Amino acid sequence: MPIKNRFAELQPEIAEWRRHLHENPELLFDTHETSAFVEEKLKSFGVDEIATGIGRTGVVAVIKGKTNNSGRTIGLRADMDALPILEATGLDYASKTPGKMHACGHDGHTSMLLGAAKYLSETRNFDGTCVVIFQPAEEGGGGGKEMVDDGMMERWNIDEVYGMHNWPGAPVGSFSIRPGAFFAAADQFEIDVEGKGGHAAKPHDCIDTTLVASHIVVALQSIASRNVNPVEQVVVSVTSFETESKAHNVIPQKVKLRGTVRTLDDDVQDLAEARLKKLAETTAEAFGAKAVVNYERGYPVMVNSEEQTEFAAKVAINVSGDCADAPLVMGGEDFAFMLNARPGAYILVGNGDTAMVHHPEYNFDDEVIPAGCSWWAGIIESRMPAA
Ligand SMILES: [Zn+2]
Ligand SMILES: [Zn+2]
Repeated sequence: MPIKNRFAELQPEIAEWRRHLHENPELLFDTHETSAFVEEKLKSFGVDEIATGIGRTGVVAVIKGKTNNSGRTIGLRADMDALPILEATGLDYASKTPGKMHACGHDGHTSMLLGAAKYLSETRNFDGTCVVIFQPAEEGGGGGKEMVDDGMMERWNIDEVYGMHNWPGAPVGSFSIRPGAFFAAADQFEIDVEGKGGHAAKPHDCIDTTLVASHIVVALQSIASRNVNPVEQVVVSVTSFETESKAHNVIPQKVKLRGTVRTLDDDVQDLAEARLKKLAETTAEAFGAKAVVNYERGYPVMVNSEEQTEFAAKVAINVSGDCADAPLVMGGEDFAFMLNARPGAYILVGNGDTAMVHHPEYNFDDEVIPAGCSWWAGIIESRMPAA
């Protein structure tokens, strides 16, 4: 099962869908037209069931195999949302909405999964059930979480889930994957330090918040160096130190610190958050000041299951002849919520020598389509082989 001939035939049609979506980008949960487009296509393929409004604007469809002796159900997931970026590609099918752009290739992901759904509806050459999942709000809104919270996994008895992202810099249609932690948890924090402002020449009458906040910045570096096991990964970066007053002769009443924490393990994440709060609060207290910590968790660590990763790599090798070891990615990925709910795997497919995702000149390469669609179809046909 290398590239399926059917996908070579379907490629121009799928590319047309992709270009339509590229022209009409929508942000976060506001994917109304995109969801309607997906729904209309799925209907025309003759899928067995379509549900809309899952996780607000998500779409789920069911495609039954010729038989269902396996009793198995596998979910394939694509993301539909675009980014608030002003497109600079100059393409004839560039975004019609200035300030909105498919700069992460979700137009490609959605079209490829539609292509796979069309093929699987035509052939049904598997023993079990395929559920195709189109989610909104991957870029920061947590649409995947909303779909899981809506009971999607239970409602369709999904046993395993698979996801894919295009990857600029890797050869078109080549695959890479890694088992275990793959994408990082990316949290952010703010620390409001309040002391007692006053005249800079009378520090004994003040509680100097710049000194207190400086001690906090230094203390936070002990999380990585003294609290977390040296063989684990953690980053604690204070990226902003903002005093209330910019004057030379005023001790400011307030200081705001901002930063980010990146981790690849839930326990390390818990530890980093707990230590950050404790260090900030008690350091401030020691100086007679007060620190209020606002710690916001982003997407959790995205963890690929061992067995499903091995299987996904085999399917990729069947399609492209090879599957490379992917590096750790310190960015976040909303598919983490689905992989927390069910075993599965997330794979990267090469997008060639293009601008990086989230760049105003990025574009999804339509030549990826046959490989991407073949991988989706291969997951279903190989995991639930026809009797
Ligand atoms: Zn993105
Ligand atoms: Zn993306």
